[in-house]
Amino acid sequence: MIELVSEDRCIQCGLCVKVCPTNVFDTNEDGLPVIARQEDCQTCYMCEAYCPVDALFVAHHADEKVAVTEQDLIDRDLLGSWRAIIGFGSRGKVSMAANDTTPILRQARSGIARGE
Ligand code: SF4
Ligand code: SF4
Repeated sequence: MIELVSEDRCIQCGLCVKVCPTNVFDTNEDGLPVIARQEDCQTCYMCEAYCPVDALFVAHHADEKVAVTEQDLIDRDLLGSWRAIIGFGSRGKVSMAANDTTPILRQARSGIARGE
């Protein structure tokens, strides 16, 4: 389920709003996406995959909210990490090429889902 939009990182490109299949986001007066209908999230990761600046985090749990903080996600290098796991963006290309950080990111994301 979508858990976080980083206002610091977001460049207001609107892509997450556009690609979300269930219209979870609204856009506020500053152009920032707001999680308006979290319960409609399908945990499809499309928004996180498309965000060009790693400003979103979707947790593995589809049916329950997970408490996350932006600083914790930054400390664990998890903000936007799905993009790297699937090979999107330059960070993804690096991790796929090096074939090293992807399993670590996967494991760390699972830990978040378990509340660790
Ligand atoms: S994970 Fe999918 S359904 Fe959920 S907010 Fe992102 S794009 Fe929308
Ligand atoms: S895709 Fe990322 S940068 Fe673009 S509006 Fe959404 S959160 Fe902001």
